[in-house]
Amino acid sequence: MAGLPAAHGSEPGQVRKEAATAILCECRGLGSPPIFLVHFLVSNPYRDTVTQVLARKWRPRNFTQLVGQEHVVRALTNALRQQRLHHAYLFTGTRGVGKTTIARILAKSLNCEQGITDAPCGICGACTEIDTGRFVDLIELDAASNTQVDNMRELLENALYAPTSGRFKVYIIDEVHMLSRNAFNAMLKTLEEPPGHVKFILATTDPQKIPVTVLSRCLQFSLKQIPQLQIRDRLSTILESENVAADVVSIALIARAAEGSLRDALSLLDQAIAHGGGQLDEESTRAMLGAVDQTYLFTVLDALAIQDGAALVAIVDVMAERSLSFEAALQGLGTLLHRLALAQIVPNAIADSDPDQVRILQLSQKFSAEEVQLYYQIANQGRAEIGLAPDEYAGFMMTLLRMLAFSPEGIANKPLGVQSEPVPYVKPVATIGAVAKPSLQQTGEQSMASAGADPSAWNQLVSQLGLNAMAKQLALRCELVSRSAERVELRISAAEERLFDQATREKLIQALKQHLGAGVVVKFISGKSEGVSPKALTERKAAEAQKAAVVQIQQDPFIQELISDFGGAVDHSSIKSHLTQQEDKQ
Ligand SMILES: [Zn+2]
Repeated sequence: MAGLPAAHGSEPGQVRKEAATAILCECRGLGSPPIFLVHFLVSNPYRDTVTQVLARKWRPRNFTQLVGQEHVVRALTNALRQQRLHHAYLFTGTRGVGKTTIARILAKSLNCEQGITDAPCGICGACTEIDTGRFVDLIELDAASNTQVDNMRELLENALYAPTSGRFKVYIIDEVHMLSRNAFNAMLKTLEEPPGHVKFILATTDPQKIPVTVLSRCLQFSLKQIPQLQIRDRLSTILESENVAADVVSIALIARAAEGSLRDALSLLDQAIAHGGGQLDEESTRAMLGAVDQTYLFTVLDALAIQDGAALVAIVDVMAERSLSFEAALQGLGTLLHRLALAQIVPNAIADSDPDQVRILQLSQKFSAEEVQLYYQIANQGRAEIGLAPDEYAGFMMTLLRMLAFSPEGIANKPLGVQSEPVPYVKPVATIGAVAKPSLQQTGEQSMASAGADPSAWNQLVSQLGLNAMAKQLALRCELVSRSAERVELRISAAEERLFDQATREKLIQALKQHLGAGVVVKFISGKSEGVSPKALTERKAAEAQKAAVVQIQQDPFIQELISDFGGAVDHSSIKSHLTQQEDKQ
């Protein structure tokens, strides 16, 4: 799609920030009856040779059109109605939430020829000139490109002169935190004793970097990120007015990708419409956003639910073939897990209109709350580390393998017969992570205790600490070496220690301090483990029970008869010990 001249008229300031997308599109719908075709030709603005960028066309021109900043609008309109005017305003908030939009509306409110008002008329000379960026008494400055003190001096010297045509000279300084220290000092003088005809409107994404002396002279408003639902509503309204065909999934995808910024949402909408040839459809929107098709992520979670490593590898390979972004996939996985957690606690929170509702509710049944929390943490951590991975493929795969390895419930209570290959009972893999449910039988493990500390006591302590999923995994891999009133020593194998970061260790330490007293010193010893960690004990217990079950089956006279009479063989993987059977029933 060729880039066309951006728009009619010119508007200052944020043009550079908006995607300068202009769209010339082909008329679709040749199969439709002629009457519809005509209607389409007439009313679809994307047939125009030059279209305005949506973000600019739909930029709010007054306070009532503004979306998502009701608290700020209420305060400003009240002040304007009561003519309680301040000489300096500061708007803070992340990009695209409406800082400069509010600043311009405020400039119109102050200068509208109808009088100072909370509802500028939009038709007088001042209003229209401000809307088109031609008003001489509105000076917009981008601090990012004018950081020097000389720019500021020049600006402030000018402030002394009375406004040319308006009531007030309004200075909008965007990204004000970028000003140099000297520039701030120069500004401070004017901020302290401003001429009556001067209003400062400052905007920043980073208020921390503004000197306190400046902050204290401004009336500060913090703008919040706009909730997805409000962005969705706004997009739907705009699409309807623009007569652009759209589906709910695409709108939801764009609203999500905009991350709280309406301006980003509109820019993305422009691009998505261009990408979709004048309409919004799910497939091209996903392609444009680089959003990973949810079905891949559902398949990943399905495979995790049944601990099917081979299926995980297969789906990752399919994703690699399609050149999907693995970073986006991790983000999508995090979002999906968040929704699973939500579905587990408040099933009604997944709206009926949500296209994924059924699958989300189904999946939420397959995982425990603890598993969802753990996977969510691992997905986020994987995303943070993906830049360090040898490549995105490896980073994504390792994250999924970590989820598989850390499954708190283990495979013992999952439906069997779904592993791609039968797992011989001797391999500890068969009981990997059958950990999180320390059974009462473990209290009988006294004989395994190392000198000085009772492993079952540690197991009990862990269950009382109220740890989060990751810290619990760490605790279950630790062995209690010694414990006194002042000191707890824990041993963990070097290989397992590497699985956990400092923050997780810190969480365990804090939990122990909270439980045993703030003065307790917790020491981790890295070394060869003695096989008495709660995890090792549970694994051994399960392996022994499994072994016993196999022996029992093999010695069964009836089975021996079957084998000798029919030349059969026992499929070991089909044998379940009483332990696994118990868990199956749960
Ligand atoms: Zn006006």
